[in-house]
Amino acid sequence: MKITISKPVISVDEINAVEQVLSSGYLAYGPRAREFEKLFAEYIGVEHAISIVNGTAALHTALLALGIGEGDEVITTPFSFVASSNAILYVGAKPVFVDIDPATYNIDPDRVVEKINDKTKAILVVHLYGQPCEMKALREIADDHGLFLVEDASQAHGAEYRGVKVGSIGDIATFSFYATKNMTTGEGGMITTNSEELSKKIRLIINHGQSTKYTHVVLGYNYRLTDIQASIGIQQLKKLDRLNEMRIRNAKFYDKKLSKLSGVETPFAPGYVKHVYHQYVLWVEERDGLKSFLENKGIQTAIHYPMPIYKQPLYRELGYEIHLENAEKASNHVLSIPVHPLLTEEDLNKVVDMIYEYYEER
Ligand SMILES: *Cc1c(COP(=O)(O)O)cnc(C)c1O
Repeated sequence: MKITISKPVISVDEINAVEQVLSSGYLAYGPRAREFEKLFAEYIGVEHAISIVNGTAALHTALLALGIGEGDEVITTPFSFVASSNAILYVGAKPVFVDIDPATYNIDPDRVVEKINDKTKAILVVHLYGQPCEMKALREIADDHGLFLVEDASQAHGAEYRGVKVGSIGDIATFSFYATKNMTTGEGGMITTNSEELSKKIRLIINHGQSTKYTHVVLGYNYRLTDIQASIGIQQLKKLDRLNEMRIRNAKFYDKKLSKLSGVETPFAPGYVKHVYHQYVLWVEERDGLKSFLENKGIQTAIHYPMPIYKQPLYRELGYEIHLENAEKASNHVLSIPVHPLLTEEDLNKVVDMIYEYYEER
C-alpha cells in the first residue's frame, strides 16, 4: 500500500453530521455555519470568525476589508502557495517579495523593514508548513510603521506563537479547510479578527454587499460557506488538537531518527512556538534522487514549493525579475515526507528505513 503525503481524517462523526444537515432541509449558510464560526472564534481566541468558501477567498476578502487596492504595496513572502500573493493582485495592489529565514522558511522580519515605503499598506505573512512566523517582531514593525498585519494561517490551525494561537495576532487572519489541511471541510475557509468594524465589512463583502435584503451598499461576492461544510468543520475542530498532537508525535519520531543522517536536515522550530506540522519538510542536499527512490518504494513525497512565486510564469509576465537567495535555495532543496495523523508505526518506520536505505546504497 502506498503511503500518501496527506489523508483526511473522516469518521462516522462527520458522516452523521452531514446526514443531519441534509435531512434538516437547510443546506446553505445557516445555523451550523454560525455555530462553526462561534466555536472557531473561541478556539483561536478572537472576537470574530467569519466562515467563507475557501482560503483564497478569505485572503481576497481580508485585503478588501482593509481597503487595500490600486497603488498600494503589500510586503509578503515569495515562498508559499501562490494564493497568498495572488490575493494581493486580485485587489489591484502590488506584492513586494522579501526573502525568508532559511532556518524556518518563513518571512524574515529584518528584510521586511528594508522594503517599507509610502505605498506600503500591509504585511501579509504565511505560517508555512504549520510553523508560526516571528510574530513579535512582525507585530512591532507593523505598529511602528502604521501597517496592517495579515496572517495567512491556511497551514497552521492550532499553531501557537509564545503561547498564543496564530490567527489572533494580526489585524486579520485567514484559514483554509481544503482537503489536505490539518482540518478540512472539503473546501472551506475562515477569517478571524478582533475588530468589530472589520468583521462587519467582511460579512458585507462575502454576501453580495447586502446590508438588508436586496439593498447592496458595496460591491460584494457570494463567498458564503454552506451548512453542509460547516457541519463537517464542527466535527473536525473537535478533533483538531488530537490530530495535531499526532502530527507532532510523527514529526518527533522523524526528528529523532533522521537528525543524525548526513545529507538531510530535519526542520527547525524554536522552543517558543508550537509547530503543527501541516508538512514535515526535510532539507535535502540532493533532492531528486531521494524523491524518486521513495516514490519507487511506494512513499509519496512532495515539493512545497518548487519555485519562488516571483518565478511563476504569471509573475514573470508582470515584470518580476528579482532573485531572493534563501527562497531560491529552499525551492531547490525542500522535500515534504508524509506526516499526517493516519500514518501507522509501520508506515513511519518504513519511511525512515527507506531513507536510510537510499543513503546506504549510494
Ligand atoms: C491552502 C492555502 C491557501 C488557499 O486555500 P484554499 O482553501 O485552497 O483556497 C492559501 N495560502 C496557503 C499558504 C495555503 O496553504
